[in-house]
Amino acid sequence: MSDDCLFCKIVSGDVPAEVVAENEHTVAFRDISPQAASHVLVVPREHHPDVASLAAARPEVAAALLVDVAKVARAEGSSSFRLVFNTGPDAGQTVFHCHGHVLSGEPLGWPPR
Ligand code: AMP
Ligand code: ZN
Repeated sequence: MSDDCLFCKIVSGDVPAEVVAENEHTVAFRDISPQAASHVLVVPREHHPDVASLAAARPEVAAALLVDVAKVARAEGSSSFRLVFNTGPDAGQTVFHCHGHVLSGEPLGWPPR
């Protein structure tokens, strides 16, 4: 838990979010500013600043997160989805608690801008 981290506060319930799934390792909730018909964020309960540091420190939690991403995508009703981990400010990361964006529910353009 990092005191000034928005997603730690969502994990603890101190900040409300529309949670769609949760288990021992992860919490999945709807993005407040959806960029596709379905846009869910999947985060580890533990605080790690980005996916690279999560994978290095806790590979088993990173693996669990990927399993949960697939479950979330299925539950959102689409066999196609895109998983994005913005990592670092130049890649557009704005919240420094690891999160996977799970985008689905409509045709998604490629390549991303
Ligand atoms: P990133 O830019 O990859 O760090 O993604 C951060 C994401 O968090 C953005 O897509 C925001 O729309 C989303 N976000 C910010 N605040 C909240 C919130 N309170 N609840 C849900 N999603 C949020
Ligand atoms: Zn955090």
